[in-house]
Amino acid sequence: MFHINHAFTQLPGSYLFAETAKRTKAYEAAHPGQEVIRLGIGDVTEPLVPEVVAALHRAADEMGVRETFRGYGPDYGYAFLVDAIREHEYASRGVNLAFDEVFISDGAKCDVGNIQELFSSDAVIAVTDPVYPVYVDSNAMAGRAGDWTGEKWSRLVYLPCNEENGFVPAVPDRPVDVIYLCYPNNPTGTVLTKEQLKVFVDWAKANGALIIYDAAYRAYVHTPDIPLSIYEVEGAREVAIECCSYSKTAGFTGTRCAWCVVPHEVTGLDADGKPVELNALWKRRMSTKFNGVSYPIQRAAAAIYTPEGARQVREVIEKYMVNARIIREGLQGLGYRVFGGVDSPYVWLRVPEGVTSWDFFDRLLDRCQVVGTPGSGFGPSGEGYFRLTAFNSEEKTRQAVERLARMK
Ligand SMILES: *Cc1c(COP(=O)(O)O)cnc(C)c1O
Repeated sequence: MFHINHAFTQLPGSYLFAETAKRTKAYEAAHPGQEVIRLGIGDVTEPLVPEVVAALHRAADEMGVRETFRGYGPDYGYAFLVDAIREHEYASRGVNLAFDEVFISDGAKCDVGNIQELFSSDAVIAVTDPVYPVYVDSNAMAGRAGDWTGEKWSRLVYLPCNEENGFVPAVPDRPVDVIYLCYPNNPTGTVLTKEQLKVFVDWAKANGALIIYDAAYRAYVHTPDIPLSIYEVEGAREVAIECCSYSKTAGFTGTRCAWCVVPHEVTGLDADGKPVELNALWKRRMSTKFNGVSYPIQRAAAAIYTPEGARQVREVIEKYMVNARIIREGLQGLGYRVFGGVDSPYVWLRVPEGVTSWDFFDRLLDRCQVVGTPGSGFGPSGEGYFRLTAFNSEEKTRQAVERLARMK
């Protein structure tokens, strides 16, 4: 019999959302007629905006006509979308990207999960803690994470983010090859200033490390001077790859479109110690294992860069941000210590003293019929915290906060 990849047998189950769903279902079954409000989801709830839907329809019609039908698209994305990204997402903020530095893909999850194929099998990986699980699990699947100890992976370097350090991770205290950063952060909802990000860029440069920057929530930034892209930080082109997505920006979680930036300056060493451009490796990988995002979907994504599309998409984000403010200010008023929710759709709160994240989950479900996500599910430093999301209706969000007030 053939042998499987041993690393998969070490992966802990994807316990977090399975467990919250199980407990919620059990509660609902035991309490019929009580309405549970879900503020645990990391998925958008508003539909695609009209400009995007119109673009999808037009592109679908083109595909049914011989003269405008399209087969395989360009390997790294249609020029109309790549150029729109370069202009509207980067040049408008003083960042100039070459055409072949932008890669269109079917998701930032795929990109941040696949990018590790470019690293050597013994590369040392650093992640912030708590963390979006994909960075950890994709490296664990490749055998780079070492052994699972029940709480941590033995070969990963964890950079704690907590109330004590203001959710600003310290640079690694030992050599690492790759650092994953996600800002605005999922799950904590916090951001880094340019100065704080520059500490990482400088460290990466001085230590020959690579930064994978996940900016899936960049469209939620409202505070002036908070960078939307790591390339707004001087020197980042030499050390950083950036992954962005239309999922949270434009409601594309079920539609699928994203982009990844790999600047020519980013190099790693080959077996002879010679620098090699990661851009060339990523092109090679993409043309071998990916055949592009469909034409109608790329047209749909490009529609958010028309003036009307941009306005409609912004309106949806502002809607979510109203919810984030309701949660943040509501909980603050109840005496909770809360973080995030200003530049991201996530609010991260400190659970009361002596209570675990899972205790708090049960308490909220039992007493308020509100579902959130226990912080400990995102990593050891998440214990004692809890995530609530802005992805629900304003009415339900207000109701949830009122229920919390009654619990106090
Ligand atoms: C939602 C999310 C993404 C987006 O993934 P897609 O595959 O583009 O839907 C990426 N990174 C983080 C941290 C996320 O929360």
